[in-house]
Amino acid sequence: MTRIPLALALLLATTAAHAESVATILRDVHLHGYPRPQVVLQRLCAADNRPGPNASIDDRARYWTAVETLERQQDAHGRADRALAVLDAMATRERCGPCGVAVHVARAQRAIATERFVDAKSELAAAEPLLANVDDALRMEFLLTRARLADLRTEMAHGITDAVAARGIAATRGWAGDEVRAMSPMVGMNADLGDFARAEKLGTEAYALADRIGYGYMLPYVRAQQAYTYAQRGEGELQKQALLDVLRLAGNDPSLEELVSISLGNLSDYYLQTHEPQKALMFAERAKAASAAQHDDNGVAVAGANRGIALVQLGRYDEGIADLLAAKALAERIGARTYLLAILDELVKAYEKAGRLREAVATMHAELELNQEMVKQERDKAVLELQEKYASERRGREIERLSIANRAQSAEMDAHRWQQRLWTSVAVLSMLMLAGLVRYLSRARRANRKLSGDLAVLSEQTMIDSLTGAANRRWCEAEMQRRAGSSVGLMLLDVDFFKRVNDTWGHAAGDRVLVELGRRLRTLVRQNDAVVRWGGEEFALILPDAAGDRLPQLAERVMQHIAGEPIDIGGHAVNVTVSVGAVMSPLREGVDWQHAMHVADLALYMSKAGGRNCATCVVEVSPEVDVNTLTGDLAAAASRGDVLLQMVEGPSPTRRPAVRAV
Ligand code: GH3
Ligand code: MG
Ligand code: MG
Repeated sequence: MTRIPLALALLLATTAAHAESVATILRDVHLHGYPRPQVVLQRLCAADNRPGPNASIDDRARYWTAVETLERQQDAHGRADRALAVLDAMATRERCGPCGVAVHVARAQRAIATERFVDAKSELAAAEPLLANVDDALRMEFLLTRARLADLRTEMAHGITDAVAARGIAATRGWAGDEVRAMSPMVGMNADLGDFARAEKLGTEAYALADRIGYGYMLPYVRAQQAYTYAQRGEGELQKQALLDVLRLAGNDPSLEELVSISLGNLSDYYLQTHEPQKALMFAERAKAASAAQHDDNGVAVAGANRGIALVQLGRYDEGIADLLAAKALAERIGARTYLLAILDELVKAYEKAGRLREAVATMHAELELNQEMVKQERDKAVLELQEKYASERRGREIERLSIANRAQSAEMDAHRWQQRLWTSVAVLSMLMLAGLVRYLSRARRANRKLSGDLAVLSEQTMIDSLTGAANRRWCEAEMQRRAGSSVGLMLLDVDFFKRVNDTWGHAAGDRVLVELGRRLRTLVRQNDAVVRWGGEEFALILPDAAGDRLPQLAERVMQHIAGEPIDIGGHAVNVTVSVGAVMSPLREGVDWQHAMHVADLALYMSKAGGRNCATCVVEVSPEVDVNTLTGDLAAAASRGDVLLQMVEGPSPTRRPAVRAV
């Protein structure tokens, strides 16, 4: 006879006594989340109206969608697949629209879990046109899935847009549980964008909300996102604390095993960085066991390498090297080249410390080769621009590499001297790679995903202006293409007399002003808005929630935010004002956004001509006018009544008597 554990028997008894309806349970999940997926599944199992084959299509669709999600969350793949098959059959045989969407979303989630990102993308693309006829719960599921995909592909701006939309649905419906689910990924994505203030605020809010409603399952996830934020910001102590919290909150819940093994890995990493090898060793061992239990080869390779590094730090060189070699073999076998590169790097250092210099040189060569190969592959793909930029440097590196190769053969040389040189050259050679790699590695560790495309990182880099961290023009073009048809506010800003800043204080000071402008603009706009570095000292704001008659007020806030406080350029404070042109895009249905941008530029020019430190806003475009005539002379169009313009003065700049600025 099978023995039912006492706790479960009691649970079954109580649920049987107060049988709930499926609708009540699902509503409760939206409102409060759950401690573990298993608990909801048990409640559903005991529900008094589980939909049989004769129940309405909607009831069955909702029930099986929920079962599929929950079973998948707790890695019960067989049962999740059976639920998926039910939905699939309903979609084809009964023409159940929502079932079809649920099937696409579920398949996208499976593809994400196995890193088939292209498949995930096409599943979601197939679902998108069917969304009109689904309920809010399913639409939100779709958005959260697409946000997760964008997050993993490091397309942060798109991911945030979807997560914000999902949160909006949750908030409108009063579904606090789902709000937590939407906020959690926004934390990490904002951290990746360098918006730590927002990441931190979201993290705190999400954690407090999850705690208040008793959403135990999400608490460790949110805490892990906070840990990631701290790591990105270089706040090790806070990161460690958050990671230890994750372990505590996750306990032995099998549905959180993956999160636990990631956190163990990150803790071993942390202790390697603080040079506490004993602790690093302990956590690396636990991480390795946890990853092995989940058949996660990447996790095993990373944890194995960490154990090796810890042993080397402890002076146990031969053991450490053996671990690193095993990790190297594994990384080679599974083709995880980014990990491989990092492992080779550690191996070289280990050989050096152990005094095994010939092996150090050989490994160094393997590392150089792999590095070059990876650089070459990226070059072959979409990084032509970067290639141009680094072409001359690369030739320089090539020469240096050859001379190193010669030197390495005469092994009698002073170990320290060549070591120094080799490292300098690797550093130079890897410049292109490493900037992405460091971020990539910590990301990959957080998510423990075998992200195959290093390119994802690079494409994000080519979407972001490296000086100010704002989006660049290329991103803006893609984003406006994506938003084609929907109404968006465009605001163009140009710094007044910026040449004077450069001439008076130097180019570096000018750069600092631009960085600060980017930062001020980012803190001012809403999550869904975007700050773009449009050109030299010009910025563009993309404002999806704006309306024509609100533009003057928005422009006033922007000017106030920039000119209200002098900018510190290192010992000096400069007063900076901007001139602004603003308009809604599209000018008319079906007209492309570049037309509107052109008009914004003309409006900006009017502000300059009008004395600077002011904004010209196109608040209305007459429905009769041929919009092509607007791109000629905007002032003339205004006097004809084709457009309605509103000018707004900027604030008078603050003067600090003690500091003479420009
Ligand atoms: P106006 O009020 O008419 O806009 O005057 P302005 O001095 O700002 O004139 P203009 O827009 O023609 O000059 C822009 C200057 O910005 C010229 C260029 O040297 C400088 N600039 C462009 N990009 C950068 C940059 O990345 N860093 C620095 N420091 N200066 C830049
Ligand atoms: Mg300019
Ligand atoms: Mg200017």
